[in-house]
Amino acid sequence: MKNIAVIGAGTMGNGIAHTFAQYDYNVQLIDISQTSLDKGMTTITKNLDRMVAKEKISEEDKQRTLNNITTHTSLEDGVNSVGLVVEAATENLDLKLKIFRDLDSFCANDTILASNTSSISITKIASVTSRPEKVIGMHFMNPVPIMKLVEVIKGYSTSDETYNLVKVLSEKLGKVPVEVNDYPGFVANRILMPMINEAIETLYNGVAGVKEIDTVMMLGMAHPMGPLALADFIGLDVCLSILNVMYDGFKNPKYAPCPLLVNMVMAGKLGSKSGEGFYDYSENRKAETVSKMFAK
Ligand code: NAD
Repeated sequence: MKNIAVIGAGTMGNGIAHTFAQYDYNVQLIDISQTSLDKGMTTITKNLDRMVAKEKISEEDKQRTLNNITTHTSLEDGVNSVGLVVEAATENLDLKLKIFRDLDSFCANDTILASNTSSISITKIASVTSRPEKVIGMHFMNPVPIMKLVEVIKGYSTSDETYNLVKVLSEKLGKVPVEVNDYPGFVANRILMPMINEAIETLYNGVAGVKEIDTVMMLGMAHPMGPLALADFIGLDVCLSILNVMYDGFKNPKYAPCPLLVNMVMAGKLGSKSGEGFYDYSENRKAETVSKMFAK
């Protein structure tokens, strides 16, 4: 299990590739977009530079880590000799089903196929392969090189052997794996997203402004970041999609996304990645935006 492939070089994919490469795995980093691969490698280099500056790793460690990563735009070329694939492509059901169908045909029979999905059913993804016992969720947290948790999600058919291999592998990366069963939102998002949604609802009802809500949760509950700032960091489109998966999966109105969240996503206000969400990120300015409309 020294050769692994990571699919998608975006926010999560480049962090996952960085982490495996730093622990001396040979990483095949695959993305359909050459621009994403270039951006991903630039991000990895910058993050390694920061670690060198903080004296957490040496310059040689940085070079070795970068040398351990090979990039590809072709799925078939990248996955033919790997023991594990970690898929971290865009959160879209049809896209992931297509990728897993292709992986099933391109990879060796004993290759483990993991997905970093935030909310899509591992059992559903596994159902389009001929090896559901070897399909598993490996849910890393952002930023991957820093965050310790990996939710390891067992689909309905995932074997104990696959689970144990992924558990040990996560520990070798310095992570703490937590065993979770395959139900909508798993554990992290099932608890986090209703809190974020309630914070948005509190704003929508005019109970308090953006800064006030975030301050209450930071100073009152010792959260390092308020829920609205966190929603901007995750991406409001991602939050909406996870809430919809839980709403559909449980048929329970407690997961219904707040209409303000729906409106903001329709308006293209997706948080820090689009320059505006609950806060304004233009020109490095971090000021409140929508709070003005809703605070008393
Ligand atoms: P992102 O948009 O930053 O990156 C997605 C990448 O996938 C892009 O570079 C895109 O070009 C690539 N891609 C799209 N189709 C592809 C294909 N067919 N083959 C190869 N690459 C393809 O997304 P992200 O935030 O990194 O999210 C990736 C996955 O990780 C999603 O499943 C998401 O739910 C999950 N996740 C995200 C976070 C987070 O905080 N962003 C946290 C945990 C899990």
